[in-house]
Amino acid sequence: MTAAALKIHERLCRAYGCPIAYFHDLDPLDELISSLLSHRTRNRDSGRAFRALKAHYADWGALRDAPVEEVQALIAGVTWPEQKAPRIQAVLRGIGEAAGRLSLDFLEGMPVAEARAWLERLPGVGPKTSAAVLSFSRLRQPALPVDSHHHRVAVRTGLIPPTLAVGPAHAALAAMLPTDWDAQQIYDNHEVMMLHGQRCCFFRAPACDRCVLLDLCPTGRARLAAPSVRAADGVDPALRAVRRAESLGGGSAGS
Ligand code: SF4
Repeated sequence: MTAAALKIHERLCRAYGCPIAYFHDLDPLDELISSLLSHRTRNRDSGRAFRALKAHYADWGALRDAPVEEVQALIAGVTWPEQKAPRIQAVLRGIGEAAGRLSLDFLEGMPVAEARAWLERLPGVGPKTSAAVLSFSRLRQPALPVDSHHHRVAVRTGLIPPTLAVGPAHAALAAMLPTDWDAQQIYDNHEVMMLHGQRCCFFRAPACDRCVLLDLCPTGRARLAAPSVRAADGVDPALRAVRRAESLGGGSAGS
C-alpha cells in the first residue's frame, strides 16, 4: 500500500504545489487550544474564538481558573461551546498537574510517539489533536493529522477500508509513508489530501471527471462507469460507507 500512497501523494503535490506553506506558527499550547476549538467548526469561527480568549485572559492560567460560563460565552461561535469550555479548562488543569507548569515546550525534545502519547492522556485529546499540536505548532514535528477530508480521500482511493474510522486511520496512513520523511513532507501529505477533499473529492458529489487521481481511484472509476447506481435515498454506497466511518471517528468535541 505504500506505493499507492506515494503515487497519490506525488500526484496531489504536483496539483497543489508542495511544499505547502504552514498556516500557523503558534506556541504548542496555543496550538492545542486552537485545535480543541476547531473541532467540527469553520476556521473563521474557531479563529475568532481563539483570539477572543487571548484578548480576554492575561495567560492560560487565568482561563483555567475563570468561571466556565464566562469561557463558554467567549467561544460561543464554535460548535459545542458548552463541551469545549470545560474541556479546555480540564486540559489546562491536566497539563499543570502533569508538567508542573502551563507549557508544552518540553515536548520539543521528545520522540514523536512519546509526545503524542503524552498529549493523548489529556482529556478529549485524540490522535488528530496530538498530531496537529506537534505538526502545526512551531515544534514542526513529523506527525500526521487526519481530518474528515483526508480520511474520505483515503477511503475512496482504497488506501484504507471504509470501516476504518478516523481515529485508527491515523496509524494506518502514517505507516504508509516513508520513515525518513521530514516534518514538511508529512505535513504536505496531510495538506494535499485535505485540500483534495475540499476542492475535488467532495462529500456529496465528488468531481471524479476532473480528478487527477481518477486512474488510481477505484471509487472514481466505478462512479464514472455506473453513475446511475444510487440507493433509494440518493446516496451512493461508497459515500454511505465513508459517512459511517466518519461517524465512528467523530461526534464529540476534541479528537
Ligand atoms: S476519482 Fe472521484 S472519488 Fe476518487 S479521489 Fe477523485 S474525486 Fe474522489
